[in-house]
Amino acid sequence: MCVGQIRRALRFAACAAMAAGMSTPTAKPWIEAISAYTPGKAKSDDGRVLIKLSANENPLGCSPHAAAALVDKGASLARYPDPASTALREALGAAYEVDSDLIVCGTGSDELLNLIAMGYAGAGDDIIYVRYGFSVYDIAARKTAANVIVAPDKDYGTDVDALLALVTDKTRVVFVANPNNPTGTYCSDAEIARLHAGLPGNCVLVLDQAYGEYLEDDGPAALELARQHDNVLITRTFSKIYGLAAERIGWCYGQPGLIATLNRVRAPFNVTAAGQAAAIAALGDTDFVTRSRQHNAEWRDWMAAECAALSNHGVKVIPSWANFLMILFEGNCSAEAAYNGLMAEGYIVRWLPGQGLGSGLRITIGTEDENRGVMAALRKILEANA
Ligand SMILES: *Cc1c(COP(=O)(O)O)cnc(C)c1O
Repeated sequence: MCVGQIRRALRFAACAAMAAGMSTPTAKPWIEAISAYTPGKAKSDDGRVLIKLSANENPLGCSPHAAAALVDKGASLARYPDPASTALREALGAAYEVDSDLIVCGTGSDELLNLIAMGYAGAGDDIIYVRYGFSVYDIAARKTAANVIVAPDKDYGTDVDALLALVTDKTRVVFVANPNNPTGTYCSDAEIARLHAGLPGNCVLVLDQAYGEYLEDDGPAALELARQHDNVLITRTFSKIYGLAAERIGWCYGQPGLIATLNRVRAPFNVTAAGQAAAIAALGDTDFVTRSRQHNAEWRDWMAAECAALSNHGVKVIPSWANFLMILFEGNCSAEAAYNGLMAEGYIVRWLPGQGLGSGLRITIGTEDENRGVMAALRKILEANA
């Protein structure tokens, strides 16, 4: 190549780069408007591994049978998993006494929440959720280009009248987490039934029961509503009480029209072979679930009582039906100061200013040692900031 040729080649490359610069890919405006999900952290800002009470994981781990089922799958790694999660759906159908054909499994319930929004809403439609609701609803709704409508809360929980007041002929999906994350509140079965009764038939009511298994009665009223009406879906997960968050397994139940939609839009092999096997084993270990529920109830009560004893420092706790507590800081010590103080003491909890909860911390119920440790650290921080 002579010098002239090289010069010409360089000039051509520069022109191509410029042209490319003028037409870079542009995301759709409703996608640009999404704030990416912020996961619960496991490390401090300076990289120290902390005791993680920020993601509502099961402090007891998972059932040993589920763990054994996971490692058993080595032999068939080259094969695709059952695309329909048939055995898992049948196990769920038997456990909940519902038709397994009316169940869809997903890559965590997160996938299912996204699919519901995608299946039923688009540009010009409305999707409603309650303020201080689960942050995935906002992302799932925005992805569809629908209008995101946020209903005001009542004492940090679901306010059915406020929700119904926002329903119009454009409303396509209403998301309610019950118990709610991040506040832990519970909306009564009667109130949920009243919400459903007030919705038009073409609006899908999504009852997200990620924490349903922590309820004394497992929250059967939601499933009953989904059994009786063709516009109700319940979603559940193996990530919380079953302790299988790493494997990403969720499921939902509803009537045939809804289920057909979700099967059209889901990824074909959305639940891994190991995940399906682990979930079946986990479902069968009812002792582990009972032990997890009891551990949670006992230590949630203990933590709430510890918080009540700190009320002279302006600490308030929202009554919780889930595996975490939302604690409000209304005294001298701010939630942010407590968050940073706990991090310095070796604990990572959840501070959610981005969701309008700048004055609260969400703390997952941990093991006995973790619970005693985090409350002692919190007391020390509050006394130092008094
Ligand atoms: C944790 C959680 C989920 C989903 O979790 P997956 O791991 O995706 O199954 C769904 N809804 C709420 C309210 C949650 O807190």
